[in-house]
Amino acid sequence: MEYKEDEYLMLSGIQHFAFCQRQWALIHIEQQWAENYQTTSGMLMHGRAHEDGLYELRGDLLTVHNLRVSSRKLGVTGQCDIVEFHRVINGITLHNYEGQWDITPIEYKRGTLKEENEDEKQLCLQAICLEEKFQTRVPFGYLFYGENRRRFKVEFTEELRNDVMKDVKEMHRLLDRGYTPKVKKTKKCRACSLKDICIPNLNTNKNVGKYIDQHIMET
Ligand code: SF4
Repeated sequence: MEYKEDEYLMLSGIQHFAFCQRQWALIHIEQQWAENYQTTSGMLMHGRAHEDGLYELRGDLLTVHNLRVSSRKLGVTGQCDIVEFHRVINGITLHNYEGQWDITPIEYKRGTLKEENEDEKQLCLQAICLEEKFQTRVPFGYLFYGENRRRFKVEFTEELRNDVMKDVKEMHRLLDRGYTPKVKKTKKCRACSLKDICIPNLNTNKNVGKYIDQHIMET
């Protein structure tokens, strides 16, 4: 099965979905949004990573910033912060660049490596899109964290790929149903950019916008 473009989900949404399914639904189904320090700071960092359409060739390394990617098979679209193409003996060919190349995606994040794997999932989904675009295998990538300015290697194992594909399938299912999952209060709620509009104590699966409208009508 292949998705049509108007059915595509935002690739970056998988990090919200992996963090909290309700957070993803509030942003991507109900179109609620709130900025806190983490998201604002993250955007500033992305501003530096996203120097639109910049191609830099230095020797055997071609660095592409802000590369747009999509997957018809998974129905997602988005962009990669940075993709490094390394000149190799056996790789893919690129228009306008001599030789053969392999592919390594790099995603920029604020903070440090997280306990859970939402960033790994986002990077892996980028890799799956790159594989579809260039018809090759992308075995690993890197996450670069701004706080300690270090990058960590992420292997795209079968287990990680399967988890990512399962998440994307579930995101499409929830979007089709227009369903916002119920609150599951966890320690993540404290750092959640949507905690003020999630209404975590409400413990409901009602549409938040409708709840607020109803509440205003009753007061
Ligand atoms: S406050 Fe908690 S339950 Fe609500 S969206 Fe954020 S993480 Fe999810």
